[in-house]
Amino acid sequence: MCEKAVNVEAIFNENVFTMGKMKERLPRKVYAEVKNVIDHGGELSPATADVVAKAMKDWAVELGATHYTHWFQPLTGITAEKHDSFVTNPDAEGHMLMEFSGKELIKGEPDASSFPSGGLRATFEARGYTAWDCTSPAFVKKDATGAILCIPTAFCSYKGEALDKKTPLLRSMEALSQQALRIVRLFGNTEAAKVTASVGPEQEYFLVDRELYLQRKDLIYAGRTLFGAPAPKGQEMDDHYFGVIKERIGSYMKDLNEELWKLGISAKTQHNEVAPAQHELAPIFNTANIAVDHNQLVMETMKKVAARHGLACLLHEKPFAGVNGSGKHDNWSICTDNGVNMLDPGDTPNQNIQFLLVLACIIKAVDVHADLLRQSASNVGNDHRLGANEAPPAIISMFLGEQLEDVVKQLIETGEAASCKEGERLYTGVSTLPDLQKDATDRNRTSPFAFTGNKFEFRMVGSSDSIASPNTTLNAIVAEAFCEAADLLEQAENFDIAVHDLIKEYLTEHQRIIFNGNGYAEEWVAEAERRGLPNIKSMVDSVKSLTTEKAVKLYEKFHIFTKAELESRAEILYETYAKAINIEAMTMIDMAGKQLIPSVISYTTELAASISAVRDACEAADVSAQTELLLETSSLLAESKKALGTLKTVTAEAVAMEEGEGQARAYHDRVMPAMSALRAPLDKLEMIVDKELWPIPSYGDLTFEV
Ligand code: ADP
Ligand code: MG
Repeated sequence: MCEKAVNVEAIFNENVFTMGKMKERLPRKVYAEVKNVIDHGGELSPATADVVAKAMKDWAVELGATHYTHWFQPLTGITAEKHDSFVTNPDAEGHMLMEFSGKELIKGEPDASSFPSGGLRATFEARGYTAWDCTSPAFVKKDATGAILCIPTAFCSYKGEALDKKTPLLRSMEALSQQALRIVRLFGNTEAAKVTASVGPEQEYFLVDRELYLQRKDLIYAGRTLFGAPAPKGQEMDDHYFGVIKERIGSYMKDLNEELWKLGISAKTQHNEVAPAQHELAPIFNTANIAVDHNQLVMETMKKVAARHGLACLLHEKPFAGVNGSGKHDNWSICTDNGVNMLDPGDTPNQNIQFLLVLACIIKAVDVHADLLRQSASNVGNDHRLGANEAPPAIISMFLGEQLEDVVKQLIETGEAASCKEGERLYTGVSTLPDLQKDATDRNRTSPFAFTGNKFEFRMVGSSDSIASPNTTLNAIVAEAFCEAADLLEQAENFDIAVHDLIKEYLTEHQRIIFNGNGYAEEWVAEAERRGLPNIKSMVDSVKSLTTEKAVKLYEKFHIFTKAELESRAEILYETYAKAINIEAMTMIDMAGKQLIPSVISYTTELAASISAVRDACEAADVSAQTELLLETSSLLAESKKALGTLKTVTAEAVAMEEGEGQARAYHDRVMPAMSALRAPLDKLEMIVDKELWPIPSYGDLTFEV
């Protein structure tokens, strides 16, 4: 069956109020004013805002929109929206005109008292404002609610403190732009007026059958399985990775792509991932704030489209124990508005002094602020990947590849990089196949922070997380390094000598962060410790890096976070952790107490009955198999019951504690182990108890029956 082909060019951006549409629909002067604000910052005059609002509303209404919303990204990590219709008061004759004013476009005031603010805003002064981020285009979202005009906004308190993920990101982009401009100016680039961070996130996800999903409270409440014995087959055959995409999944991907293209998201790559039922989607990279918005839309659309296909999309970092979890590779680079990618080494990186300075600055930034980067990628789900038995490791290190590593080595040793390894020809040995030019760098899949040709790939980020924090952090730490370098070099009497010395100094001082080996190996942990690199094992352990003197100095200097904003974020992270683990613990208590243990009891009762029945029928019959099973089952049952009791007690103790670091630690140190202790005997029991009696779908059912 082949459905009608879609015209991708025609549907692309169909639901987006693009610059092109603004140009078409706005008077020339108004368009010029808007474009100027988008490109160079500033504020729209009220009259202009009114004209833009009207054009935007007319366009949205043509698409069927009845409402608008200021679409924002509170500290919950997901997006928030409150819809207002365009409806106004009817006139005396009962006619009503749909309206939308410039004021409504630019500023909103949702009653924001229920969003986490970490103490920044007391509930009695709950005012929070949303302000239009005109650098990310407005779009129309269509779903069961109808069509809604969504205006990307930043969300701040009455006093201007950031209550969202967007505001600090935008602040960090400005800081990076200013400092990066100083660097390019040093090398004679007088044309560039702006430098932007570009981001391309690769999104991993799982798809499972919705009917089966709905039978598992753990998936519903926690987004991951809290019980489950391994399936007979996992990912050991490597047959899912890049495997043929099943019809049902293919039709999902097709639908998903079309939805995303209409929203102007350039969905590009799709493939099956390593674990069964795991897949990936990558869009083409975009300006950081737009990429962040788009990634939120990608995650939301993935879930929505899944429901339409009788599927459920799991974005959790570790939906299933024992098979690969999901991450989000955050590809990041910095480009000037006159087309220079500052991370492009060119053919001869050893002679590209600007590139070497940029590289040295980034190496310094990552080394100095490894703890902040690690923190920016931590969330509750990611604790099951980072530092657990899975990649990437929790230790931040950088992979540069053979070519750059060699250049760096020469620079450190002799202060000069006379030569540069080149990519060789790759001979296929088949006359009909072309011989290929090899990249000078191979890929290293085990590095959390890898240079991949003309960008860095930050691989630690969790699949369900917003990519705002990782990119805010990257922008900030690199802005600081650029600033420190520019402060010195702008004053230098002899620039050539000064830049040469500075590159050598940075590389020498921070070379410990470079690691080209296997990041998954045991030895690396010991080696990293020897090098003095931080190994921050959990989200709870990572939070304090936000409020160190070093972090406060960095973020205050570039006006990205105030100390109060950082403290509030730390507080929210502790609360979030405690709440999430509490939900998991309560879900386990519920499932074990009401579903799993009762079914084990039914099974033991059946077994016992069968033993008596067999004995009654024939006294000499051998019932040793049934008796052994009964003994084993009963003993695991007793262990489960006891573990359930312990989990109830420690959870009750943790929940009663005062919110904050202490409580988060109690959940991590006491509740989590109690959860594992309950899971272990019940997973063994799943392998013993009659499949008919086991009340929830198995790992095999979930991951192979899609
Ligand atoms: P991989 O081979 O790493 O899996 P993918 O094609 O899946 O690569 O994803 C790579 C991502 O990096 C894409 O989103 C791509 O658009 C993005 N990307 C490519 N070049 C840049 C760049 N200069 N800056 C930021 N992101 C980039
Ligand atoms: Mg990929």
